[in-house]
Amino acid sequence: MLAGHEVIVVDNFFTGRKRNVEHWVGHENFELVHHDIVRPLYLEVDEIYHLASPASPPHYMLNPVKTIKTNTLGTINMLGLAKRVGARVLIASTSEVYGDPNEHPQAETYWGHVNPIGPRACYDEGKRVAETLSYAYMRQEGVSVRVARIFNTFGPRMHMNDGRVVSNFILQALQNDSITIYGSGKQTRSFQYVSDLVDGLVALMASNYTLPVNIGNPVEHTIEKFARIIKDLVGATSEIVELAAVEDDPQRRRPDISRAKKYLSWEPKVPLAEGLKKTIVYFAKELQRTKHSQKT
Ligand code: UDP
Ligand code: UDP
Repeated sequence: MLAGHEVIVVDNFFTGRKRNVEHWVGHENFELVHHDIVRPLYLEVDEIYHLASPASPPHYMLNPVKTIKTNTLGTINMLGLAKRVGARVLIASTSEVYGDPNEHPQAETYWGHVNPIGPRACYDEGKRVAETLSYAYMRQEGVSVRVARIFNTFGPRMHMNDGRVVSNFILQALQNDSITIYGSGKQTRSFQYVSDLVDGLVALMASNYTLPVNIGNPVEHTIEKFARIIKDLVGATSEIVELAAVEDDPQRRRPDISRAKKYLSWEPKVPLAEGLKKTIVYFAKELQRTKHSQKT
C-alpha cells in the first residue's frame, strides 16, 4: 500500500482478526471485505495472494471439513478468478505436504510421506490438492501460478489462542505457567520470522519461477531446546513438563532453501532470538490489554 498498490483483504475471520488490519482502515489504498472464498468472488485484480486456511493444528482439527473446503473449493474459486481476470496467483502451500518426512532436510523434489486419513490430513491433503489444482489450471488454462511451501512462521499479531508452539510457550513463560511439551521434545522444527516470510512471498510473486519454492528458516532446534530458549529470553521460572505426544506429529522438519536462494535471491535475515524478543514484547502487551479489558 505504501508503494502505491491498492490492496483488497478478503477474510471470513474464522482464525483472522479485524484488529490485525484495523490500523489500515481509512487508508485510500486499503479495502477490507468480509467474505468466505468457499463461495465465488468477483473482483478485478492483478495479483492474488491466496493465504486463506487455518494453519494451526488445533484450529484445523476443530473443523476439518471447513479446512478441506477452503483449500479445495476456495482454491478453485481463486484460480477461477485469476483465469477470468488474467491475474497471477500465489498459493500458500506448506511444509506439511512433506508429512512426517523420510528425507531430511526437505527439498522441493521430495514427494512427501502423508497419512491420508489421519487427524492432520484435512490440512496436508487439502494443501496437496491445492498445489495439484494450481498446476492443472496452469497447464490447461494458462493461469500464472506461484507456489510457496511455507515452513513454521511466527511473529507479532499471532492469536493468543493460536495453539501453536511459539505462542503457547511465550504465553506460558510470561505467566510462569508450566511450559507444555507434547511427547519427548526430541522432535525438531525450524522457525522463520514473519517479515522474512513476507519478503519471500513478494519475491516469489515477482519472479518467473513456476515450480514450488520452500520459504523457511533452516536453523533447526528440538522442541525441548526451543522451550529452554523461550524460558530464558522471558526470564521465567516456569517448569517444563512433558504431555502426551500428538498423533502423526512430524518428527523432523528443516527446509532446504537452495531453490529460493538461486531463483529468488532470498534467504531469511532475522535471527531467531531477535524475532522471539519482538514477539515476546507483543504478547506481553496483549496480556496487559486482555487483563485491562476484563477489569473494565
Ligand atoms: N469464480 C470466481 N470468480 C471469478 C471467476 C470464477 O469465484 O471471477 C469461480 C466460479 O464460481 C467457478 C470457479 O471459480 O466455480 C472456477 O472457475 P472456472 O472458470 O475454472 O470454472 P467454470 O466457471 O467454468 O465452472
Ligand atoms: N508442541 C509442543 N507444545 C505445544 C504446542 C506444540 O510441544 O504447546 C509441539 C508439537 O507437538 C510439534 C511442534 O511443537 O512437534 C510444532 O507444533 P505446532 O503446532 O506449532 O506446528 P506444526 O509444525 O506441528 O504444524
